[in-house]
Parts: sequence; C-alpha cells; structure tokens
Amino acid sequence: MSIALAHLSCRELVELVTAYLEGALPAGARKRFEAHVSQCDGCSTYLEQMRTTIRLSGALRVEDVSPEAEQALVHAFRGWR
Ligand SMILES: [Zn+2]
Repeated sequence: MSIALAHLSCRELVELVTAYLEGALPAGARKRFEAHVSQCDGCSTYLEQMRTTIRLSGALRVEDVSPEAEQALVHAFRGWR
C-alpha cells in the first residue's frame, strides 16, 4: 500500500476509534486520527462502518461492529500480524 501514515498505524487507529467516536481523544491524537483516515481507504471505511453500527445500535461499543466490517479491515491490512 502506498499510504503516507505520518504517525498512527492502522492498528493504532482501530484501537482509538471508540475513543474518537466518544470525543475522548486529546486534540493532538484526534488530528492524527483524522489525518490518517483522510489518507487511508481501509480506515475510512472502518470508521464509516463503526459510525453506522453505532447509529443503528444506539450503543458505543466496539463489539457491535459486524463481522463483515472486521473482515473487510483484516483483508485491507493483512500485513498487520
Ligand atoms: Zn489506516
């Protein structure tokens, strides 16, 4: 993948997504999060799916993310492990 990820890795982003959606990230981390999402199709999709899931469920829980969404992310970033 030819993505310029200045600070956050995709894995770190996924770990921060709940805090981001809760508005719990400090400004600096939030900026890096948004910069990453703007440059990364996989994380952009992931964030969208998280938002959709949360909107539908009315809950803010990572466990609510669909297996399909997780699969899509795993496929996008097979290099993680
Ligand atoms: Zn990413």
